Amino acid sequence: MTSLRRPLFALGFATLTHLSAHGATLIHAGTLIDGQQDQPHQRVTVIIDGNTIAGIEAGYRQPAKGDDVIDLKDATLMPGLMDMHTHISSQHNGARSYMERFTLNEADYAINGVMYAERTLEAGFTTIRNLGDSHNETVALRNAIAQGKVRGPRIFTAAKSIATTGGHADPTNGRSADLMGDPGPRQGVINGIADARKAVRQRYKDGADLIKITATGGVLSVAKSGQNPQFMDDELAAIVDTAKDYGMKVAVHAHGKEGMERAIRAGVDSIEHGTYMDDETMALMKKHGTYYVPTVMAGNWVAEKAKIDGFFPELVRPKAATIGPLILDTFARAHKAGVKIAFGTDSGVSAHGDNGLEFKLMVDAGMSPMEAIRSATWHGAQLLGESARLGSVESGKLADLVAVPGNPLEDITLMQKIHFVMKDGTVVKAPDA
Ligand SMILES: [Zn+2]
Repeated sequence: MTSLRRPLFALGFATLTHLSAHGATLIHAGTLIDGQQDQPHQRVTVIIDGNTIAGIEAGYRQPAKGDDVIDLKDATLMPGLMDMHTHISSQHNGARSYMERFTLNEADYAINGVMYAERTLEAGFTTIRNLGDSHNETVALRNAIAQGKVRGPRIFTAAKSIATTGGHADPTNGRSADLMGDPGPRQGVINGIADARKAVRQRYKDGADLIKITATGGVLSVAKSGQNPQFMDDELAAIVDTAKDYGMKVAVHAHGKEGMERAIRAGVDSIEHGTYMDDETMALMKKHGTYYVPTVMAGNWVAEKAKIDGFFPELVRPKAATIGPLILDTFARAHKAGVKIAFGTDSGVSAHGDNGLEFKLMVDAGMSPMEAIRSATWHGAQLLGESARLGSVESGKLADLVAVPGNPLEDITLMQKIHFVMKDGTVVKAPDA
């Protein structure tokens, strides 16, 4: 039983004590982007013990008895990808999506989530933030994935987003008051400080990992403005203070400048979309250390769909046509200004599994391929507060790894062709044998 156990010192790693009895998995990587450093490593062996990275060694180490070898000599190995903005239990489908609040039940969202989670993992995303669901179904999905019941990324979920009455995440916008009633903090609609506190505490009770608020209007909701501020300063302070008490971070949907800046000043952790941020907003984000999660894909997607007659309700269409195309330029300016950027796609607007397209858009807008990859690894882990476990290929971190055939630093579209995925030390997808 213990004959295969050996001290790691023999391998040159002093930090861990033993490989387990079943032997190790050795990944022979032609190129390794470790998520931390700006330069890739060539010809290395990454040693996996259970669900943990046990070491990284120069050259292709020969397996000992009981070791498995994964041959990725023609590939580039990277940390598992992290998408900081998804809606894993739904996917936009034009006009039909606006009916789904009347036709779908919790079980439908839950089962859709299982399907989309698998697609997301297959695309190389081993960790996601879920920024808004309908019935806390992503809490159940997160737990089921963590327990190995279904396959999907590691989920950090905000459960149902918090809005104000008529705000972007008020689920009853544009609907019959008779059918939909007047939602309150439990459903994520708040007015005033007490409601704000209740909504945060409710999410904690419901099992959410973080809080998501919609600080300004948005594109896809059935409401006139896509950018007006929707929370007062005292409401924002109540949200952030309560979230801090419960150890939860706050992610903020925002398009307009005023609502965005109020949220940044209140001390939120990330601004999502951020369309109308200007130099002043960016300076404020740098001062407060606020992350920007651009979601360029979502902007492009809504702009494209706005050209199709009848795809969106008439109240939504002009917002999609004006706000959508601006995000790419906002991202380019924010990157130039040195705002911290974490990768996010808003998948669930666009199709789950297409997440990797965001890399190409980021590079098109002036980010280097290495920076784009680090935004989806190192910076994702920083934003989550999970950098001790995730975000880089280092001894002691969880064995979440992905690979592409070839060199993504030369061809960033390879990020849409992930052919190897390991999550928690388990191979989920391997190159064709
Ligand atoms: Zn979103």
